[in-house]
Amino acid sequence: MIALVRLFTYLRNYARPVAWSLLFVLVATAMNLVQPKLVEFAVDYGVARGEVRSVVLASLALVGAAFLSSGLHLASGVLLVRAGQGMAYEIRNDLFRRIMSFSFGNLDRWRTGELLVRVNSDVNAVRMFVRLGLLMMIQSILMLAGSLVVMYRTNARLTTVMLIALPGTLALFFVLAAFIRPLIMKVRERLDALNNSLQENLAGAKVVRAFSRQEYEKDRFDTRNSAFLKLSLRVGYVIAVAFPFLFFLGQLAIILVSWFGGTAIIENMLSPAGGGLTLGQLVAFNEYALMAMWPIMALGMTLQFLTMASASAVRIRELLDEPPDIGPPESPRMPGRLRGEVTFEGVSFAYGEGEDALTNISLTIRPGEKLGILGRTGSGKSTLASLIPRFYDPTAGTVRIDGIDARELGLSTLRERIALVLQETVLLSGTILENVTYAHRVATVGSVPAAAVLRAAEIACAREFIEEKENGWQEPVGERGAGLSGGQRQRVAIARALLSDPDILILDDVTSSVDARTEKQIIANLYRALEEKTVIIISQKVNTIMLADRIVVMENGRIVGCGSREELMRSSDTYREICETQQEIRA
Ligand code: ADP
Ligand code: MG
Repeated sequence: MIALVRLFTYLRNYARPVAWSLLFVLVATAMNLVQPKLVEFAVDYGVARGEVRSVVLASLALVGAAFLSSGLHLASGVLLVRAGQGMAYEIRNDLFRRIMSFSFGNLDRWRTGELLVRVNSDVNAVRMFVRLGLLMMIQSILMLAGSLVVMYRTNARLTTVMLIALPGTLALFFVLAAFIRPLIMKVRERLDALNNSLQENLAGAKVVRAFSRQEYEKDRFDTRNSAFLKLSLRVGYVIAVAFPFLFFLGQLAIILVSWFGGTAIIENMLSPAGGGLTLGQLVAFNEYALMAMWPIMALGMTLQFLTMASASAVRIRELLDEPPDIGPPESPRMPGRLRGEVTFEGVSFAYGEGEDALTNISLTIRPGEKLGILGRTGSGKSTLASLIPRFYDPTAGTVRIDGIDARELGLSTLRERIALVLQETVLLSGTILENVTYAHRVATVGSVPAAAVLRAAEIACAREFIEEKENGWQEPVGERGAGLSGGQRQRVAIARALLSDPDILILDDVTSSVDARTEKQIIANLYRALEEKTVIIISQKVNTIMLADRIVVMENGRIVGCGSREELMRSSDTYREICETQQEIRA
């Protein structure tokens, strides 16, 4: 509930339509409350005295009131559509901004399906409440209070009789609320699981087919789908069962009114001096009783909107309130250029609560050095690289860039002056040109890319294959780089990183799918073009790091060797083993 109320701050830009809408509802409800009085007038003055004029007059007034209240209801509904949609729009934007602020650590904790459900379904649940639930709730409370007051003033005794039904209704209402809330929360969680399943199957569609695991995946999806169905049904059943009860209590109240009211009228006729009830009053009273009962039933319905919306609001707040693991420093230092020195001082790192992925790493990479990092998969190479542009912060120790603690540098300096080409190359939908210029939009003359783009592509050995494509630079790239081979994707990713003219370039195993000759060419090009810059090349293959000035060998999250090829041949067992296995493969 608190979470939902807090979300209402998103309505602040729509205060005016909301205020108008509420005012309209207020007036419309007043109109509704007047109607039974008009009927009373028609019956007691018109019908009883045979005055047709009074009946016609009352009827006309009734029609007017009905028109006016309908019109006002309509207007207030329309205004709330605007407020609800506007609020949803702003919440979605804020959620997206929050997700964009997430560091790698945050992203490790959230699953894609969960994020999707929160941005879509949960925001929708809140919007529906604002659009329908809120109005119904306010209207119901107004109606209930209004009709009770009028009834009490018409006939206090009859009102008391009717109120007997009220506690029962309220009790049922609260039991229902207590019962349904946890259920709805769980329904949402199951929806998360369902979406995760769907999302993973779409992302991994080819793997599923490659292993012909469609049947298995179908079963798995079905399991989650039926778990979702089961819970949703339970919520539906609870509501379906509770409603007739609410309805019955409402009917009971009406019956009581007719019974006691009827008796009162007869008494009135027998002894007119008694000051009992007139027929018109009973008719009016009956309508008020209906009016008082309708809100109670409507509240039952709103309850459903309310519980859904408050469950969703909690989930939205969870996401909105998750602080990014890595934020910009208070007063960031922003050197325009970096010399390119990287120092690890006793750095250890663990993912979440897991074991150390890096243990006590100390290493200085000199400006302009061409460093190779060699190690088997899982030895911690990618982890080491990701600490340099501060994708993660070390658990212990310090990473320094040009002698400055990376945590004191502006994030834009870190991410723009240091280019890390990730092991998993991800391209976005768009043309090849759009992908290469993703981070640095460089002016293009006609369909000819700017000189800087061509140069980057040449260094990455990508220009040739790009220009051979049917549409050249305008060749569309599908989702996640579909349409390009693995090696082509890697080369586009290298060109993309080069375009920012980084001071430190890190390639994390991104020539793995390129043929050996092209790989050698790319690395020779890089070393020549970035002669003054620091270049770190990570690989599990000795060949890839052949040309490096110095090689660091990693094993189990530790540096187990460091030096030139000759030195390592002499000093490092791990290096020798890796060389031997790779020579065997070649032989
Ligand atoms: P390499 O790049 O040398 O193959 P990594 O640095 O990717 O090795 O992985 C080092 C260790 O950290 C491995 O044991 C791996 O399972 C673990 N690891 C890597 N990435 C994550 C992650 N996002 N969350 C949890 N553990 C991870
Ligand atoms: Mg790796």
